[in-house]
Amino acid sequence: MINLVGQQLGNYRLLHLLGRGGFAEVYLGQHIWIQNKQAAIKILRSQIAEEYIADFRQEAELISMLRHPHIVPILDYAVERDTAYLVMDYYPEGTLRRRHPRGSYLPLTEIIAYVKQAAEALQFAHNHKLIHRDVKPENMLIGRQGEILLSDFGIAAMAHQTSSMSTQQPTGTVPYMAPEQIKGAARPASDQYALATIAYEWLASERPFSGTYHEICAQHLMAPPPPLRERVKNIPMEVEQVIMQGLAKDPAQRFPSVLDFALALEAASLSGTVGSLSTLPRDLAPPMPTFSGSTSTPVTPPEVNIDPSHSSSIQIPAKSTQPAPLSTHMPKPQGRDRRSLLLGIALVACALLLILGALGLFTYQNHKQQIQKANATATMTNMAARTATTSTQQTTTAQANVNATATFTYLSPPEQYNQLKRTPPTLNDPMHDNSQGGRWYEGEHSFGTCKFLANAYHVSVTEADYGNSCGGGTDAPVHDFAFEVQATIIQGYSGGLSFGYNNQQGYHFVVRVDGTYRISRYSSAQNYNSTLISGSSSTIKQGLNQTNVLAILVRGSDFSFFVNGQYITHWTDTTYTAGYLGLYAASAQSRTEVAYGNARIWKL
Ligand code: ADP
Ligand code: MG
Repeated sequence: MINLVGQQLGNYRLLHLLGRGGFAEVYLGQHIWIQNKQAAIKILRSQIAEEYIADFRQEAELISMLRHPHIVPILDYAVERDTAYLVMDYYPEGTLRRRHPRGSYLPLTEIIAYVKQAAEALQFAHNHKLIHRDVKPENMLIGRQGEILLSDFGIAAMAHQTSSMSTQQPTGTVPYMAPEQIKGAARPASDQYALATIAYEWLASERPFSGTYHEICAQHLMAPPPPLRERVKNIPMEVEQVIMQGLAKDPAQRFPSVLDFALALEAASLSGTVGSLSTLPRDLAPPMPTFSGSTSTPVTPPEVNIDPSHSSSIQIPAKSTQPAPLSTHMPKPQGRDRRSLLLGIALVACALLLILGALGLFTYQNHKQQIQKANATATMTNMAARTATTSTQQTTTAQANVNATATFTYLSPPEQYNQLKRTPPTLNDPMHDNSQGGRWYEGEHSFGTCKFLANAYHVSVTEADYGNSCGGGTDAPVHDFAFEVQATIIQGYSGGLSFGYNNQQGYHFVVRVDGTYRISRYSSAQNYNSTLISGSSSTIKQGLNQTNVLAILVRGSDFSFFVNGQYITHWTDTTYTAGYLGLYAASAQSRTEVAYGNARIWKL
C-alpha cells in the first residue's frame, strides 16, 4: 500500500497513519488553513471505478446525514484521482479495541455501559433504515467525555459496492457476522448479533467462535455458541440467556430490536441470579420470552370534531387489533454428533458462499433505495433536532465510573424516567378537581364524558368501538417530556393517555382489562386510528378496578412507554415535533369508564 503521508486530500494534509482496516487506511489529517482543526481521513483502498462514483457519493451522503451523539459524524467525502475518501471527526483516545486488547475481561457494568450506547446508535440507524453491518470494538471510538461513538455505518457495504466487486469476503468482519449476513442478507437484527458477540467476548475474554475464516463462518451458520458459564464463573443466568438470545441463529428469535437487547441485558445484570447455572441445558440456555406484534387497522371515520386547541374531548374510533400472542422462542438444543456433521456441511456451504462473494453475487441491500431522497431533508432536520435534545441528556457525573478515563453517563430511557421520579415534576396534580393547574377538560358529549367525580377524573365512552380523548395537563404543545398518570378501568375495555395531539394527529397509549397494551396513532387526514404496537406484559394489572401507572417519556422523536415503573416498549416517529396531552379511554363492545389520578408531568 502506498504511503500517503505528506500528501493533500481536499483541505487536509495527511500527517500519519492511524490504522489500517480490511478495505481502507485511516490517516490523521491537518486542515491546511485552520490550525487547530484535525480530522480522520478514511481512504478506501481500491481505486473506484467510474460507474461507482455516483453510488459512492449517494451512500456517503446518506451516511453523513446520520447525526446522533453516539455516531461518529462524517464531515465530508470526495473522490479525487480515483481515490474515494471520507472525512470524519478524529478521536485521539482511539477505539475500544485499543483500550481493551483482545483477551481482556471486562466487568459487566462496563460492558453494559458500552452496549447501551452502541445500541442507541444502532437503533437510531435502524429507525432510519440503515444497517451498520460491521459492528466491532474497532469501530467503537472513545469520545472526549469518555462516551462511545460508533463509526463506519454502512461503509462495509459501500466499500464492497465501490471496489468493483473485488473483495473476497462478504461485507463485515467475520468473527462478529450474523449467519444471515454471511449468506448476504444482512438486516437490522444482524447488528444485534454482532453486539451480542462483542458482549460475549468482553465477558468471556474470547469470542464465541474461533478458527480459520471458513471455520468461523461455518460455526456462525451451524454451531451453538459455547455456554458462557463454561468460560467464566459468576455470570447471572439471566445475562447468559439474554446474550444467547442475541446470538440466535434465526434473526426472528433475537430481540425485536437492538435497544430491547441492550435494555434486557441491563435488566438481567440487575437480577443477580448466580450459581444455578449448572442446571441449564448444555447447548443453549433458554432465551427470554419476547413480546412482539404490530399491526395497523383501518377503522371507520370518526364522526366527531378534532379541536385544534385541544380544549375539548375528541371522539375517535378505537377498534383495535387483537393483542399479539406472547411468543417464547426456544431454539432446539443440538447434540454434539449432529453438530460436527452440520459443521462439515456448513464449511462446504461457507466456501461456496465465499466464491459467490468473490464473484460479487452477494445480495447487496442497497439502502439508498430504502430511504427516499424526498425524505432526506426532513430526516436531516429531525436528526439534527434529536441530536440537540439527546445531547442535553448526557451528563458527566462520577456515577458512570466505567473506568478511570470514562466520566460520561448515558441515561437510557428507564434510567431517565427513574431519575425524573426523584425530581419535582412541572405539574403534580392529584386530579381531585381542577384546582391544581391541570386544566382538564370537562364536558359531556353523545359519545362520552370528561368529568371530575368522587375525587378522580373520569373519562367515559358510551358507544361501542370508540375512543374519547380528554385534553389537559398542559396549555401549550409540549416536546421532550415525561407524562405519568394512574389509570383505573372501572367499566369496559381500555384506558390510558394521549400525547402529541395537534389538529392532524395524536398518539394513544392504553392498557386493556386483559393485561395487554396498545400504542396507536390517530390521523385526522386519514380518519385512521392505527395500531403501532400491541402486546402484553406481566407488569400490567389485569381486570376492572385495578390501578396501573402509565407513563410515556418523549425525547426528541423517541417515545418510551412504561407501566408500573417497568419499561414496556418504544417507538420512533421522526415526523413528531410537539403536541398536547390528554387522557384516553376506548371501548370495545360496551360502555367504558376509566378513572384517573396523580398526573405528573416533567418537562425535560
Ligand atoms: P477497522 O475499523 O477494521 O479497524 P478502519 O479502516 O475503519 O478499520 O480503521 C482503522 C483504524 O483507524 C481503527 O482501528 C482505528 O484505530 C483508527 N481510526 C479509525 N477512525 C478513527 C477516528 N475517527 N479517529 C481516530 N482513529 C480512528
Ligand atoms: Mg473502522
